[in-house]
Amino acid sequence: MTDYGRRHVISLGGVCELCGGRFALEFKQHKGQTLVTIRKPVWTEVDAPAG
Ligand SMILES: [Zn+2]
Repeated sequence: MTDYGRRHVISLGGVCELCGGRFALEFKQHKGQTLVTIRKPVWTEVDAPAG
């Protein structure tokens, strides 16, 4: 599979009830098929507003 385009992608975030770990379910449309991927999102800190 060589098409890594970001079109037609839905991501759903979730938390594991057992260990509290975060994950994301990703549904990707590719040539008429729906591919499901489970990935661990990398959470990055966003700059907090001053004050
Ligand atoms: Zn878990």
